Amino acid sequence: MKELSDQEWLRYNRQIVLRQFDIEGQEALKNAAVLVIGAGGLGCAAAQYLAVAGVGRLTLVDDDVVELSNLQRQVLHQDADLGRLKVDSAADSLRAANPWLEVATHAARADEALLRSLLPQHQLVLDGTDNLDTRQLVNRLCFEARVPLVSAAVIRMEGQLSVFTYGEDEPCYACLSRLMGGGVLSCVEAGVLAPMVGVMGALQALEAVKLLAHMGRSPRGKLLLVDGMTLSTRELALPKAPDCPVCGKGPA
Ligand SMILES: [Zn+2]
Repeated sequence: MKELSDQEWLRYNRQIVLRQFDIEGQEALKNAAVLVIGAGGLGCAAAQYLAVAGVGRLTLVDDDVVELSNLQRQVLHQDADLGRLKVDSAADSLRAANPWLEVATHAARADEALLRSLLPQHQLVLDGTDNLDTRQLVNRLCFEARVPLVSAAVIRMEGQLSVFTYGEDEPCYACLSRLMGGGVLSCVEAGVLAPMVGVMGALQALEAVKLLAHMGRSPRGKLLLVDGMTLSTRELALPKAPDCPVCGKGPA
């Protein structure tokens, strides 16, 4: 267990004074490794807060390069990064934001082999991809490894957030997606307003920090819906599907 240096103590003082967080919370972050799937809008927004908050190690997985239409919401990439790998561009921005942070990058698709090799070295996974197959795969492997998953999605003016810690009676992402049906629109087709991405990514970072520091209450097994048009939220309890192919007994 690595302890905080004097410099880090000063750097993170405004969080350390939070009584529920304290020095133990800060040290928990310093010793944590978080796997971030996707260096797009949600990944950028969540990773930048994890970096400045003092998470010790971030691993970024994304095989895309930065395009002009990304810059409207993917805040770790800038004009000078056009054409670069997103993981390289994001890693540079994150290191600049906090020199104490270690960043590892994988310019690759989040496939089963890569995820299986990475999961055991991480305490938590953040998923912000817009690909349903990847989301299902990440959920299945997180369930098998019992690594908590903070999942978010955002489209138009609507955001969703769920936390899966895979306890005995908790639902998983596959239970949720059965409820929602198969179709997932991407923001390429439907559009998305920039601050909505920031809001949902920041919420992902908040839930990640709470889980790592063992503080507060996590919306485990719930679906938080955020409507940016009216700035209202709804929290739905997610039922565990008894025949869920991942966390249940599978189809009868
Ligand atoms: Zn399930």
